[in-house]
Amino acid sequence: MLHLQNYINGALVPPTSGQYLDNFNPALGEVYSLIPDSDERDVAAAQAAAQAAFPAWSTMPKEKRSALLLKLSGLIQKNLDRLALAESVDQGKPVWLAKSVDIPRAVSNFHFYATGILHDSTEAHAMEETAINYTLRTPVGVAGCISPWNLPLYLFTWKIAPALASGCTVVAKPSEITPMTAYLLSELAIEAGLPAGVLNIVHGLGPKVGTAIVSHPEIPAISFTGGTKTGETISSIAAPMFKKLSLELGGKNPTIVFADADFEKSVHTAVRAAFSNQGEICLCGSRIFVERSIYEKFRDAFVDGVKKLQVGDPMLDESWIGAIVSKQHYDKVLSYIELAKQEGGRVLCGGTALHPEGRCKNGWFIAPTVIEGLSYDCRTNQEEIFGPVVTLQPFDTEEEVLQYANSTRYGLACSLWTSNLSRTHRMAAKIHSGIVWVNCWLLRDLRTPFGGMKGSGVGREGGFEALRFFTEEKNVCIRL
Ligand code: NDP
Repeated sequence: MLHLQNYINGALVPPTSGQYLDNFNPALGEVYSLIPDSDERDVAAAQAAAQAAFPAWSTMPKEKRSALLLKLSGLIQKNLDRLALAESVDQGKPVWLAKSVDIPRAVSNFHFYATGILHDSTEAHAMEETAINYTLRTPVGVAGCISPWNLPLYLFTWKIAPALASGCTVVAKPSEITPMTAYLLSELAIEAGLPAGVLNIVHGLGPKVGTAIVSHPEIPAISFTGGTKTGETISSIAAPMFKKLSLELGGKNPTIVFADADFEKSVHTAVRAAFSNQGEICLCGSRIFVERSIYEKFRDAFVDGVKKLQVGDPMLDESWIGAIVSKQHYDKVLSYIELAKQEGGRVLCGGTALHPEGRCKNGWFIAPTVIEGLSYDCRTNQEEIFGPVVTLQPFDTEEEVLQYANSTRYGLACSLWTSNLSRTHRMAAKIHSGIVWVNCWLLRDLRTPFGGMKGSGVGREGGFEALRFFTEEKNVCIRL
């Protein structure tokens, strides 16, 4: 069986412990490879390699750094099919989705930051004839990057690319549940000729490897994407050490549909927003609020649309929904469906596990589930489920739906459907979320800063904000 390796100081190496963890194919419910069960010794080796590589990498001319990262971007593109297949086997998502979204986005992440640094600039402020102030930005040092399992290579590279482009060296940990594409990335980094120690990838468990990265005194910046609870733990370690901290956390996003919206488009997009990637996207719209005058018509059309989504073998083009990422997560999602029923919810479709015929019969599949009849403040509507489960609820007024939408501890994204321009502006200003999509979902220019409010996170990723995050800023004031 394939043993994945850590990538430390330019080489693929086994974990110091010599121990490995099972890596499952969720569509089959079977172990298909083993991943290093690393610990703080591996993180210390990775940090030392990154520290040693920092002086040369951080002072390398931008053009040269950019060329290396563009080469890596090109290699990801060249290996798109292989990476998409690996991501699908590891994560459970349909292979067509990995091919059309996840891997192309990893290509773009490196391309965007490799070219972005060539056009970045700093500010200068002249005080007439008295003085000139300018801002100096220098890479912060060794950056720690920790990413989740839902969009494995997409989110891993979204952290690594700006860190490397800005001149930091990196110690990174992918989710232990989906390590394969990060492992393949380390092979491609070697092929691209990335200098030894510039990028280090340590596989293993969050509480061991993740904690060792977060608490290492010589890793001054931590970029984390994952659950809100883990974000709390990380903050409690990193904040007293005064580390730079970027936290992209959970969501419980509202989709709000007014009666004056384009009906067909709103139904079609709400279905996609609810169930793409098995509902395992932090930006999925899992609470759908519909103006009462169209509620029943919308509900029926929505449920019809959901019933047409095929659940099955991620290798097949016709499968729109694949497997749930792990047995533990599968059990968690099913337990929330039970909770919804106990709270008085009516299951309109789905509500059960599925066992496709053939090779996936032991995989972890759940039918896309739509529930109505719940109050906005029940647990089902307040806690992040992060799976193919959504609720529908009618509303009468803007004030009422704002109260529903803003009632959770989260504030990541919202999809708002209306053709009324004034209402759009009114609502967009009042919704507690880091991004408001109007008459669309999941559209984003890579230059746009991205992040959540409240329990959905601290700081902004994406765009030039990410380059700022990985640098120290200094203001220099020169008396003329
Ligand atoms: P987790 O918080 O469980 O894990 C995220 C990463 O942190 C994993 O690599 C994990 O390792 C690691 N980790 C776990 N415990 C610790 C620790 N104590 N110290 C340091 N690192 C640790 O999240 P999931 O992987 O379950 O991902 C799903 C969550 O991510 C959802 O809440 C989702 O909303 C959120 N998310 C947010 C996004 C955003 O942009 N706001 C985007 C995508 C997802 P291991 O896997 O080994 O446990």
